Amino acid sequence: MERKVRVRFAPSPTGPLHIGGVRTALYNFLFARQHGGTMILRIEDTDSTRFVPGAEDYINEALQWLGIGIDEGVREGGNYGPYKQSERRDIYRKYVKQLLDDGKAYIAFDTPQELEAKRQEVANFQYDASTRLQMRNSLSLPADEVQRLLDAGEKHVVRFKIEPNRDVVVNDLIRGVVTINSSILDDKVLYKSADDLPTYHLANIVDDHLMEVSHVIRGEEWLPSAPLHVLLYEALGWADTMPQFVHLPLLLKPDGKGKLSKRDGDRLGFPVFPLEWHDPKSGDISSGYRERGYLPQAVVNFLALLGWNPGDDREMFTMDELIKEFSFEHCSKKGAKFDFEKGKWFNHEYLMNMADDELAQVFKPVLAQHVDPAQFSDQYIAQAVGLVKSRVNFVGELWDQARFFFVRPDSYAEKDVRKRWKPETPDIMRDLIEVLRGIGDFTSHNSEEIVLDWIKEHDYHLGNVMNAFRLTVVGECKGPHMFDITELLGKDETIARIQAGVDAIHIIEN
Ligand code: GLU
Repeated sequence: MERKVRVRFAPSPTGPLHIGGVRTALYNFLFARQHGGTMILRIEDTDSTRFVPGAEDYINEALQWLGIGIDEGVREGGNYGPYKQSERRDIYRKYVKQLLDDGKAYIAFDTPQELEAKRQEVANFQYDASTRLQMRNSLSLPADEVQRLLDAGEKHVVRFKIEPNRDVVVNDLIRGVVTINSSILDDKVLYKSADDLPTYHLANIVDDHLMEVSHVIRGEEWLPSAPLHVLLYEALGWADTMPQFVHLPLLLKPDGKGKLSKRDGDRLGFPVFPLEWHDPKSGDISSGYRERGYLPQAVVNFLALLGWNPGDDREMFTMDELIKEFSFEHCSKKGAKFDFEKGKWFNHEYLMNMADDELAQVFKPVLAQHVDPAQFSDQYIAQAVGLVKSRVNFVGELWDQARFFFVRPDSYAEKDVRKRWKPETPDIMRDLIEVLRGIGDFTSHNSEEIVLDWIKEHDYHLGNVMNAFRLTVVGECKGPHMFDITELLGKDETIARIQAGVDAIHIIEN
């Protein structure tokens, strides 16, 4: 029988969610939705030493911003809770006991100092079948001594007793069959009495089993743990319901070799986190895609294609299209270079495709930093952004391009004045005012025709006149089509600006 698809994203709240983690969450989500399955968010907080306040909220907020929906989790609830590992101590204790009772695990009393001494003494020391009897544990010590130590409250750990020399087979949907020999594995710590918590390995396996996870989709960095996980499933008697493993390719540096890191982002000037993060300890601020002005849809589209492709050259995908098209067959084994320029390109494309009135709403908070948006109709703002959006990659850049639609120029670019403002210009501009005043239909096309005819008729220098005109209206010789600008500004405002320019601009001699 086909197994019901249940997947989980299982971050540890040790800091802000890295963009690679976001991609893992996204792929889990796409796969879950494609199969009508369930997406679980499990908080893996068993390493109390690495817990960072605020990290869990950050994860929730980031996923929500991106539209990665969660079906079961700490906030959402569900029938398989609690969804936070630190609240599942009783559950883990039970399985620690089961492994001990079955002789699949043992208790070890070695102190950190003793372990260190051993490492000094034996090169490449590994705690395993070949060395465990030299150590202080329930396999090497007499039973009554073990009991005495436990009764005395001696700190201990529980280690997995790995059988040497077995071929362990990991079946991975992207990587195929990976076989390794168990002798290279060490007897991993599964539980620590010091904080009465399991380690990642045990908690992860127990939870995947109890939460009936069908597919473990996670980053390639977890592949080395997979053989151990396979052995744990067997030891716990769950081999038959072991989830299908899927290890996603690494995200690589944009340049050079190796894994994408925060340092690459700092060095090359792009965020590696979805949202801005304020480190509670150091006070450091790390930039985020949201605060940089990326649209969540663009980030999703960009991330989806880092490790997956549709099998052809299509690049633009909505979330619904991704849900339909996504497949592990088209995920690469090779790491994906993090091409952040491509991220900008995606954002540009999404801005271009966005309806102007929608874009205007996103732009309003930026506008509000400079002027009161209530002075302008929604339609006016929409038309203004519509005229300049092709020139930007980010919403935040719209202000620089569209500024003159909202405030009159208060200065005029010197180099343009130098080049375009001639002794005869003020008279020509005064004339132009009269021409404009006489136009009944002030639409772009109509004004353009009339003004160009007037220029021709007087044999004026087209470039000089049009640029001087632009200089008075925009403040510099830049911007979209001149008559699109004047149509939107309207006749009165256009004329007022030319007049103000004539009054304020003085010839700069070359
Ligand atoms: N807690 C691990 C992490 O932080 C989970 C790895 C897994 O998905 O098994 O990524």
